[in-house]
Amino acid sequence: MDLSDLTIKQALQSLKEKKFSTRELVLANFERIEKFDQDISAFLTVCKESALKEADEADKLIARGKAAGSLTGIPYSAKDVFSVKGVKTTASSKILENYIAPYDATSIKKLKEAGAILIGKTNHDPFGFGSSTENSDFKITKNPWNKNKVPGGSSGGSAAAVASGMGIFSLAEDTGGSIRQPACFCGVTGIKVTYGRVSRFGVIAYGSSLDTIGVITKTVEDAAILLKEIGGRDENDATTLNEPVPDYLKTIDQSIKNLRIGIPKEYFTKGINKEVEALIKEAIKEFEKLGAKIEPVSLPYTKYAIPAYYLSGISEVSANLARYDGIRFGYSQKDAKDLKSLYFESRAKGFGPEVKRRIMLGTYALSAGYYDAFYKKAQQVRNLIKQDFDKVFEKVDILIAPVSPFPAFDIGEKAQDPLQMWLADIFTVTINPAGIPGLAIPCGFTSDNLPIGLQLIGPRLSEPILFKAGHAFQKITDWHKSKPNLK
Ligand code: GLN
Repeated sequence: MDLSDLTIKQALQSLKEKKFSTRELVLANFERIEKFDQDISAFLTVCKESALKEADEADKLIARGKAAGSLTGIPYSAKDVFSVKGVKTTASSKILENYIAPYDATSIKKLKEAGAILIGKTNHDPFGFGSSTENSDFKITKNPWNKNKVPGGSSGGSAAAVASGMGIFSLAEDTGGSIRQPACFCGVTGIKVTYGRVSRFGVIAYGSSLDTIGVITKTVEDAAILLKEIGGRDENDATTLNEPVPDYLKTIDQSIKNLRIGIPKEYFTKGINKEVEALIKEAIKEFEKLGAKIEPVSLPYTKYAIPAYYLSGISEVSANLARYDGIRFGYSQKDAKDLKSLYFESRAKGFGPEVKRRIMLGTYALSAGYYDAFYKKAQQVRNLIKQDFDKVFEKVDILIAPVSPFPAFDIGEKAQDPLQMWLADIFTVTINPAGIPGLAIPCGFTSDNLPIGLQLIGPRLSEPILFKAGHAFQKITDWHKSKPNLK
């Protein structure tokens, strides 16, 4: 048995049966990092010492037969936007290159309490800005399925790590696709939750009205296990929902017979890659075999999703990133001649080009005179997009859509053309403005062996239904079990 291939469910079971120790499990994951991450470049920080210490503690607990936490001994990684006390937290930006977080983000704290073991922090586009992980100020992560391709983004390091057997799951963030699209490009599972389901406290902000915390995993079942742990009301995040977190595993095996699934026609336009389209259509047939009722639906405002999302997102960026002033956080220009030059020079040197682009465009969109034309308009369109979803969910329970119009693209292919990069997000950015959840699962491979994923989208708090449908699909298909052949 290769310990780095295990899912959470399998690892918990085997640890309980004492088939191996936590130390062995954690070491197996580090072995993969040591062997392959020089090349894949998924990690920015590796926490081997603390992880092994925690592993030994977990083994002691297990040996004494003490009631262990629900995730005791499970090694995982976290995107580098999650504050971890005493650990470098860079947001993949030079401005925070040496920033050590003074406290744990709520989700990190909850995972720690459940007994999960953090093995490292993963690379991503700075502050979550991008779709390929190429914007990171530190390194370019490669796609484990084909090292000339991007792993997707912004959580590319997290997806590449899980696909490569470096950590059983990864904690990540999705503002407009950053969990779903890299999961799709790397052949793994990813959940973007209902806005407010998981606390954002301690997570470096991108766009506060869009940001959500979720996980990248090997199976839908694992995602369900984790959401139960990290979800819930947090008094430190006023946007968290005051609604109970269900035990998702209780309903995950239910049949999806007669589940009404809508296929939005706007997601199958002429821009979509033929192989992607064919694989999604094949997958839809599998859902039909499971007894689901498929019907065409329409989301007419989809075509405005990209501008509405980017205008809203970058406007919030211009406000959220004002805090990096060279005084309170991170990089500070040493010999600046006065306060104003300290601000200017610290930000000029600390931020990379994509971050600057977004701050400038966002500031413009919010400025007096342009506010009504840009920001306010974007909010109105956002409302229409939300109404589109409200309307279709009167008719169907969930939707099936592609995650990305094409498979993973070449490193460098879109890096010089920001607009092309932004357009790649067409199928993921629609749901964040509406605050609803989406689950990305693998559904096949292209002729040149690149993974393809589909997205299950549901109304607010429909995670139990998404998990049930995704799990039903994974019970009759093997796409999620395929592993890249790393050398
Ligand atoms: N690619 C999108 C963007 O650049 C989404 C990023 C995200 O979800 N953090 O904004």
